[in-house]
Amino acid sequence: MKKVVKFGGSSLANAEQFQKVGDIIRSDESRRYVVPSAPGKRFDEDIKVTDMLYGCYDAASKGEDITEKINAIKARYYEIIKGLGLSLSLEEEFKKIDEDFRAQAGIQYAASRGEFLNGKIMAAYLGYDFVDAASVIRFDKAGNLEAEETNKLLSKKLSKSQHAVIPGFYGACADGTVKTFSRGGSDVTGSLVAKAIHADIYENWTDVSGFLVTDPRIVHNPEPIEAITYRELRELSYMGATVLHEDAIFPVRKEGIPINIRNTNSPEDKGTLIVESTCKKPKFTITGIAGKKGFCSINIEKSMMNSEIGFGRKVLQVFEDQGISFEHVPSGIDTMTVYVHQDEFEEKEQQVIAGIHRLVQPDFVEMESDLALIAVVGRGMKSQRGTAGRIFSALAHANVNVKMIDQGSSELNIIIGVENRDFEKAVRAIYDIFVLTRI
Ligand code: ASP
Repeated sequence: MKKVVKFGGSSLANAEQFQKVGDIIRSDESRRYVVPSAPGKRFDEDIKVTDMLYGCYDAASKGEDITEKINAIKARYYEIIKGLGLSLSLEEEFKKIDEDFRAQAGIQYAASRGEFLNGKIMAAYLGYDFVDAASVIRFDKAGNLEAEETNKLLSKKLSKSQHAVIPGFYGACADGTVKTFSRGGSDVTGSLVAKAIHADIYENWTDVSGFLVTDPRIVHNPEPIEAITYRELRELSYMGATVLHEDAIFPVRKEGIPINIRNTNSPEDKGTLIVESTCKKPKFTITGIAGKKGFCSINIEKSMMNSEIGFGRKVLQVFEDQGISFEHVPSGIDTMTVYVHQDEFEEKEQQVIAGIHRLVQPDFVEMESDLALIAVVGRGMKSQRGTAGRIFSALAHANVNVKMIDQGSSELNIIIGVENRDFEKAVRAIYDIFVLTRI
């Protein structure tokens, strides 16, 4: 059994957290490949080391003196080293970082040092080999991951190590220029390592016990999700549920490796298992509810639209020409409604309306703003009668007016449009009807 374990910044923010991580790793000998993030926040107002590095590099590129800023970063690492009772010195590494910053080695290089240094500490603490991600994660010059080359380099290197620490978040081009993934990218590194070593499972340790059925800011103490499929997760994350970097899914999904989201501060919790498919019945009919505010709808009406071939294409062409992506397009006999993000649309509103008039000569165009979309997602909805009925009766009882309904034939989700001001109320009503009644 081989496991890849990735730990997020809050799991590695200080020596105490490092110790919890050490206990977790040592309690299971299959946890052989470890991917650390940079130290995160120790308390609410604290600054993540990655953000300190961005700030420091910014100052260096303006020609300011960075001694104090470098010392503050150094202090974060030495606090961990001392707290763990290690005799590790990072003086050489910091000397090099100081020189490289002054020589303006690049903002991505700067940010990557957070993981690099934490990886050094982690390897010393566990007695594992240190594998510099710059030698095994390959980017092209434009900063895109070279997936195949990376997989080759990683498998070759890790086949020689029984136990290794590979820092997250960064890699390098063939010429050695360091590049990073987007923020939160250590999740991606973990996924690439899991694929390369054919891991049985990719454990992603963070500060929550997995995904929750809905946003805890809306529903108090929502139920956790025990198992979720990649498709369900995609729907929920698109609508705002974030725990995992989006690009972390692809490498493991293709290999059929499950991801387990776990909580460093509560290791006894099972967390959420993310799988390609499962015959495990979900606990409730729905797996999760997520949503976002800030949409607007453009409703286009024209009599006999129904028989005008090409009408829909022309309308969508107008949005494409203005560089606006659409979310949903429910249609009626003589109407077609396009849902878009309000902030993207607002600046281009008049051009879009003019374009629609020019291309399809509608009878009229009507717009409505401040709308929210809610996705009710669940593999358990398939072939289950009454799900939609229950959602809408719950919304009616909560006095929420439904503006739009969209259910794809996959029966994996139902999207509901409501007014922004009804958003929280609607989410609570749907949660209650499925979860509190435990059906
Ligand atoms: N340290 C990086 C960040 O703060 C990457 C990561 O934590 O995954 O975004």
